[in-house]
Amino acid sequence: MKPHAAPRLLAAATVVLVSAACAGTGSAGGETGDEQLQVTVSSYPLQYVAERVTAGRAEVDNLVPPGADSHNLDLSAQQVGRLGEADLVVHVSGLQPAVDDALEAQPPDRLVDAAPLADLDGDPHFWLDPSRMAELTRQVADAASDLDPDGAQQYTANAEELGQELTALDQEYAAALAPCAGATLVTAHEAFGYLAQRYDLQQVGISGIDPHVEPSPARLREVVDTVSGRGVRTLFFEAATSPAVAETLAQDMGVQTSVLHPVERVTEDQDYPGLMRENLSALTQGLAC
Ligand SMILES: [Zn+2]
Repeated sequence: MKPHAAPRLLAAATVVLVSAACAGTGSAGGETGDEQLQVTVSSYPLQYVAERVTAGRAEVDNLVPPGADSHNLDLSAQQVGRLGEADLVVHVSGLQPAVDDALEAQPPDRLVDAAPLADLDGDPHFWLDPSRMAELTRQVADAASDLDPDGAQQYTANAEELGQELTALDQEYAAALAPCAGATLVTAHEAFGYLAQRYDLQQVGISGIDPHVEPSPARLREVVDTVSGRGVRTLFFEAATSPAVAETLAQDMGVQTSVLHPVERVTEDQDYPGLMRENLSALTQGLAC
């Protein structure tokens, strides 16, 4: 929301802490007493979990600027420096080589790597399965509690609350998509593999896992065959990228288009649960159920 306010606030907090210590009025709590945890994350879904779990006890810094793309992220020298100063980093190893390199050169106190939650080959988009997000929530709470034991109770309570919300979201998905079991989900950005796996859909990607890769003519022919062979009614595309390929394909085949959001970048009025529910509504309306 106010990306420039955070460092200044922290600097102010540090100054207060130092002067309190010099005056001999500092508590016995030691250096971690009043100092906020510095948490750095490498994409929006990780930011959402970190902010919900730490809720005011930490500064959460997303390496991806608002509206930017988390694929192919480049880091400035300043960002590499900030990453090196973080207490806790939450990332998905393998998604952003620049982040992996910086973390290897200068490891933070604690690292939560969500890659084990992203166990489909080459596909980082685990957050589109709410049950995997719930698992991340617990891991972030554990790491934050280790670093800031005074906040452990709060982190655990926040994680439990978020975990319950994510479980409820998962149940909504399961109930709404049960009649669609086995349906084919054709999507421009192949980001919905975990969602498809969880709710028994068959994902067919047009452009692949990285949205910047143009589909080959052979791939497009396969998609056309799938659409006609499986009674697909809708091609889903991502609002933020050019829908030209999907629109042209859809027109050629006489099917409709709809938007599925990969929840990788958000505007100020969007958040994870809101976008996930918009996606669910688009799926139940667009799939052949
Ligand atoms: Zn993506």
